[in-house]
Amino acid sequence: MKGMDVLEKAVAGERLSEAEVLSLFDLPLPELAAAAHEVRLKKTDPEVVTFLIDRNINYTNVCTVACAFCAFYRTKRQKDAYTLSYEEIARKVEELYQVGGRRILMQGGVNPELPLVWYLDLLRYLKSRFPDLRIDAFSPEEILGLERLTGLRAEAILEKLKEAGLDGLPGAGAEILVDEVRLKAAPARIRTADWYRIVDAAQALGLYTLATMVIGFGEGPKERTAHLLGLRAQQDRALERYENGFAAFALWTLQVEHTRLKGKAPGATAHEYLKTLAVARLALDNFAHFQASWPTLGFKVAQAALYYGADDFGSTMLEENVVSAAGGHGRTHATVRQIVRHIVDAGFKPAERDPLYRILRYPDAEAILSEPEPVELPLA
Ligand code: SF4
Repeated sequence: MKGMDVLEKAVAGERLSEAEVLSLFDLPLPELAAAAHEVRLKKTDPEVVTFLIDRNINYTNVCTVACAFCAFYRTKRQKDAYTLSYEEIARKVEELYQVGGRRILMQGGVNPELPLVWYLDLLRYLKSRFPDLRIDAFSPEEILGLERLTGLRAEAILEKLKEAGLDGLPGAGAEILVDEVRLKAAPARIRTADWYRIVDAAQALGLYTLATMVIGFGEGPKERTAHLLGLRAQQDRALERYENGFAAFALWTLQVEHTRLKGKAPGATAHEYLKTLAVARLALDNFAHFQASWPTLGFKVAQAALYYGADDFGSTMLEENVVSAAGGHGRTHATVRQIVRHIVDAGFKPAERDPLYRILRYPDAEAILSEPEPVELPLA
């Protein structure tokens, strides 16, 4: 089938085969963008771009996995190794409440010093202090670490975490779900089958999950296609069996500036990012929402992404430490005003959402933009 026919097929809502998805990577960017945007307009409110007010909290930087692409982790003996106390975490949540947010995305290293009860007590403590707080926390890698530590299976661990107050398991740690790519970048990193096994267990329990992808390890279209089709198959399975699939798809580029992969992995250009995003929108026919990534490529590329298949501007984050430690775009958070300004500037109507993409409100963009940018206070 010719390239343009494949685009027509995707726009018509038909499922693309592996060979067809692979062929999309050879098409010119403007054609891909037009088709991806058309699909986006059909699947989500064409006028609206959503965003979330939330805060990232990295509860510990101690990690034994030692991924070569990570500049965030420390060994427990390093001077700047830390584990936050429950009180320190609560202070960060208070700051989130002050800006109107009710969701934290809490992740950390795989720290064998922290027993399962530490996580359970933390969740109970936070839910008792902040009953309306939504906690999406821990990656499949952290759950795998807890499996090794406790001898329990992911299902049992996640069930206990859910009982203690966990609402969701963010999809970090996916990168490219092809083991040859993973082994080169981080030999001890969670393998593809374990990532899917743990995400599947979370979805079976009704927990929120997010499908993610990081490009720039030196993988080519073949591996990117395999990653996308793996996510599509898991989404089919989760929707059919549990009626609870991934809430959205998020793509970003590998940051290697301050990592051991510098000079060894190519990273990815804005052009590659936009192309892969458009291909993802066309390949993942069972996903409604696609995030634009401002932390890795900046606000301008994120605005462009809104015409390459994305319908969401991500979240405020308030304190992103992992991507920014590796390089990033020098930005660890965004204010609501910045997000609203960039959505309006790109030609859309901003809507605040929750992690499940339910619209909470349409902020008065005119009023927000008529105010000066608030002075940013140092965070706890
Ligand atoms: S990416 Fe995660 S698992 Fe890998 S070293 Fe960093 S904190 Fe540890």
